[in-house]
Amino acid sequence: MKFTKSCIAALTFFMLFSGISVTAEEKDTDETQDKIALFKKTQAITNMPWYYLAAIDQYEHNIQKEEKPDQLISIDIPDEFWFGISNPGLPAEDIITVSNGWGRDGDGDGLAEKDNDEDVLYTMADWINRYGNNKEDVKIALWNYYQRELTVQTIMNIAKIYEKFGTTELDKTDFPLPLQANYSYRNTWGDARGFGGRRIHEGTDIFAGYGVPVKATTYGVVEMKGWNKYGGWRIGIRDISNHYHYFAHLNGYEKGINVGDVVEPGTVIGSVGATGYGPPGTSGKFPPHLHYGMYKDNGYSEWSFDPYPHLKRWERNARN
Ligand SMILES: [Zn+2]
Repeated sequence: MKFTKSCIAALTFFMLFSGISVTAEEKDTDETQDKIALFKKTQAITNMPWYYLAAIDQYEHNIQKEEKPDQLISIDIPDEFWFGISNPGLPAEDIITVSNGWGRDGDGDGLAEKDNDEDVLYTMADWINRYGNNKEDVKIALWNYYQRELTVQTIMNIAKIYEKFGTTELDKTDFPLPLQANYSYRNTWGDARGFGGRRIHEGTDIFAGYGVPVKATTYGVVEMKGWNKYGGWRIGIRDISNHYHYFAHLNGYEKGINVGDVVEPGTVIGSVGATGYGPPGTSGKFPPHLHYGMYKDNGYSEWSFDPYPHLKRWERNARN
């Protein structure tokens, strides 16, 4: 059976008319399960670990401009690769035999179809397998394919998270400070900053006492840790949605938290402080607070956006 969105639509239709209600969340879960089944099926026939395929798919989903309504898989292999540079638009039945393109038949119907989920996954796995299927091989294949360091790093990080938790279903979140702590924050997006010339405030300041624990808000990988003259002791975590979470002015780090570590919502990473605005160790030039910044990568560039609505939502979810 093919795992397509229309199957799920048909199932939903059936359930509605049989009096069984289905929520959007359950539908998402069904799609996620169907996708995991596709990744694992491809792994079984290509030996490509499912979490690499899942991570590539997730990354491409994050940068996708428009959804493909009839497909579960978001990976979009460019025509010149699929068909071969000299064979644009070659019929699907001829790709495997005639062209030098990458297009492969993954579901055994004799066609290499660019819009068939199993063909796409099989083709991607087959192409990476030319380099091999261990971590370093995959990294080299991804570098040659995307030619962009941040893309490779993001995909490898997502894969690491999927491998560790054994699933792609990772939507849990947390608020960065314990709800019982005494803290306050308001929306200060874009406020002017004094130190370091004309900068605007790219984040939300959550005021709290020295030493209040600071937690990861999503699943992610620690990408950066260390001193910066503005941010003081800070830490950066990249999640599975191409978001980079920036925690600054920390008093210190939680013991054992290092670059490359996988974290989950609620993992303590450090504590609230007032470090920064000077050489390493500078502290107390402003009241203690956590500066929370968020950055989004679209596959070409990275920019900061207002974390305030996210913080509000995480706080609400943590309360329930
Ligand atoms: Zn701030």
